[in-house]
Amino acid sequence: MTLEQKHHESATVGQEVIIRERRLGALLTFQGKGSDLMKLAKENPEGCCHDNYFNQCGDCSSQRAMLPISQIRDAALVNHAPIGCASDLGQFNAQHRRGLRYNAIPVQNIRALSSNLTEKDLIMGGENKLAAALEEAYRRFAPKAIFVTTSCASGIIGDDIEEVTLNAEEKLGIPIVPIYCEGFKSMVWTTGFDAAYHGIVRKLVKPPRERRNDIINIMNFSNQHAFSPLLAKIGMEARYLVHQASVEELAHISEAAATGHMCETLGTYIAASLEKLYGVPELKSPPPYGSLWTDLWLREIGKITGREKLVEKVIVSERKRIAPELEAVRKKLEGRTVFAFGGASFCHNMLALAHDLGLKIVGMMGFHHDMTFDNDYEEIISLKNTLTLVGNIGSYSVCNKQPYQMIKILQDIKPDLVMSRHESLPTQAVKLGIPTFFAADANILGGYDGVVTTGKRILGAIKSRNFVKNLSAHSREPHSAWWKKQKDPFYFAKGKRL
Ligand code: SF4
Repeated sequence: MTLEQKHHESATVGQEVIIRERRLGALLTFQGKGSDLMKLAKENPEGCCHDNYFNQCGDCSSQRAMLPISQIRDAALVNHAPIGCASDLGQFNAQHRRGLRYNAIPVQNIRALSSNLTEKDLIMGGENKLAAALEEAYRRFAPKAIFVTTSCASGIIGDDIEEVTLNAEEKLGIPIVPIYCEGFKSMVWTTGFDAAYHGIVRKLVKPPRERRNDIINIMNFSNQHAFSPLLAKIGMEARYLVHQASVEELAHISEAAATGHMCETLGTYIAASLEKLYGVPELKSPPPYGSLWTDLWLREIGKITGREKLVEKVIVSERKRIAPELEAVRKKLEGRTVFAFGGASFCHNMLALAHDLGLKIVGMMGFHHDMTFDNDYEEIISLKNTLTLVGNIGSYSVCNKQPYQMIKILQDIKPDLVMSRHESLPTQAVKLGIPTFFAADANILGGYDGVVTTGKRILGAIKSRNFVKNLSAHSREPHSAWWKKQKDPFYFAKGKRL
């Protein structure tokens, strides 16, 4: 195939993903009730990405793109950037090793290089360096595919990544997958997940050879394969993606019966892409967190795969199996107040669990909010599903990981418990003396067993109350006296307040 033909084929699915601000009307700043945000999304689906005048510790979408692709077992990654942009790779390495160990796959390091752009390259161009880094990655790792992630620097100087990667593909004989994820392009870092999935669908996924009615794609992180025992009860297998998958497995995800995920924020872009390009249905249900959403998830799988009767039997027997333990946990937790923070849709999952456990939901803080989703299905609107399940949420904030705001919100609400899925932020709640449940592995909170597991872990967190109070008494808040006096956590919100 000539280079020109390859250019044409590569462009069949556009080179770049459209950023979430433009595609989904994502926003980064909001404070009100859950119902206000729902109303706003209906009236203003195009949204408007209001931000703060400064960010304390928000992420970059290039980092988020590198996370999933660095975890693909037999691929390599070249970050076409100054070396500092690769600073998260150490953490991603730890996640990869943990994911492999969890799932009894031989442990290895990620295979990643930086093209190490310098000031000179920013003047003279970095294409030669990228070509050299691709050859070096091929020599060192013998990968089945190489991903190239872009950066602010490579975007500003306008290196022709498409040309370099197509040339390298020709020379090395393996897929070279450019991921266009310049950090400055999107203020919503989850755009980076979409960019990574876009590259995978565009360059690696092949048309289906057959349809597998017994396999379901599950988009997730480097976590335990905790959905498998439940799916096995209805004769199905989960294909966990894309962390710890192989290039060959990715090539055939178009053959699955359906695509699900552990969270809409993470999985709905690729689910919609697979549906549109290859007819793999996206599950039209919330993900399986809390008993009711697990029922709905199983019923949707049953409907798609013709297992409706079996699913109903499994729902009855599973609910019966966990009932005694669940009741015992509920009795101990009933009436305690909870506040959740984390990625937008996974926060909704934690609230579904909290509701099932009898906790009283007093608020949440999502890191961003998508006004729409890529597939226009009512059943996947996670905020709507949450409000239907738990009722209105009195204090609903959108705030992209800003501890200075979070502390004010928590001081105002004073919940009995905080639930979080992101490392580092739970310490903020602990410093305020609030017992905190850190979800970490999102998969093990799923399904019926996940409700009981979560309840027991929350009980453990609550038992640490005196320890947490002691820690709080000995910790200092770093913010200025001026900020401590301000009433409004969103004082620095930029643009028109939504
Ligand atoms: S924002 Fe730009 S410069 Fe910073 S880490 Fe991301 S890609 Fe690199």
